[in-house]
Amino acid sequence: MTIITDEHCTGYSRAGHPERPQRITTAVERLKSQTELPLTWTTPTSVADEQILRAHAPEMFARLDKPEDFDADTPFFENIAGYARASVAASLDALKLARAGQNVFSLMRPPGHHAMREKSMGFCYLNNIAIATLEATATGARRVAVFDFDVHHGNGTEDILLNQPGIEFFSVHQHPTYPGTGAENRGRNCFNYPVGPGTPRLTYRAKLAHALDDLRSFRPDLVAVSAGFDAYLRDPLADGPLLAEDFHWLGQTLRALNVPLFTLLEGGYSRDLRELIFAYLKGVEGK
Ligand SMILES: [Zn+2]
Repeated sequence: MTIITDEHCTGYSRAGHPERPQRITTAVERLKSQTELPLTWTTPTSVADEQILRAHAPEMFARLDKPEDFDADTPFFENIAGYARASVAASLDALKLARAGQNVFSLMRPPGHHAMREKSMGFCYLNNIAIATLEATATGARRVAVFDFDVHHGNGTEDILLNQPGIEFFSVHQHPTYPGTGAENRGRNCFNYPVGPGTPRLTYRAKLAHALDDLRSFRPDLVAVSAGFDAYLRDPLADGPLLAEDFHWLGQTLRALNVPLFTLLEGGYSRDLRELIFAYLKGVEGK
């Protein structure tokens, strides 16, 4: 398992904001102090503007340099464009490593799945997974599945990947909750699996299994995963029921697809985030 991370991704923060640098630093500490999983560590390389512009409008991309908040949840930070680019670069590196046969996890911030073609929102500035998926199909992948298990709908990913050839998007999320979308399927290729707040754990898990069955029947040659750990029982931002063992099961189930796979961190705001990530990685590694 290769972990892509960079201490520089902890260089921006706003007091009281849940998407905070400690999400990464505590996960790095946890993963470095364990001996069960052999890990290789690497830092992100770079991304070309053309790769970003497959997913985002030029005006939206230019807007990242304008010192003005994007919305109430998504502040402007000095050099946020640089941080967002590094997170995108990590997603492209993850794609490359997956194609080379490795298991890989991008442990970076900012997350990306709410970033729309024309708008940064929901703690997300550029859509890491959509950019990596479009890179994959532009460079030979024929059937790419994107699986998003963050408790919030991947509205940005859906917006960018809607009806893109060779791509199917599967999102399991709470509804209604932020950002309010994802109640129904969209287009030819965006499949939504909404789960009501307060849904019991086994029902939630059955919904995840259902989405993964549908994903399997697409017969992807590559799977990109938006891993949000905020459907966790004790997450402060949503009302999900999942436990660490469920994230372990998700990792195992994705591993069992037996298809090149890369995973990017999205949400997850509880103090246990590090344990949830570790459980997921163990599942992906078959431990
Ligand atoms: Zn989320």
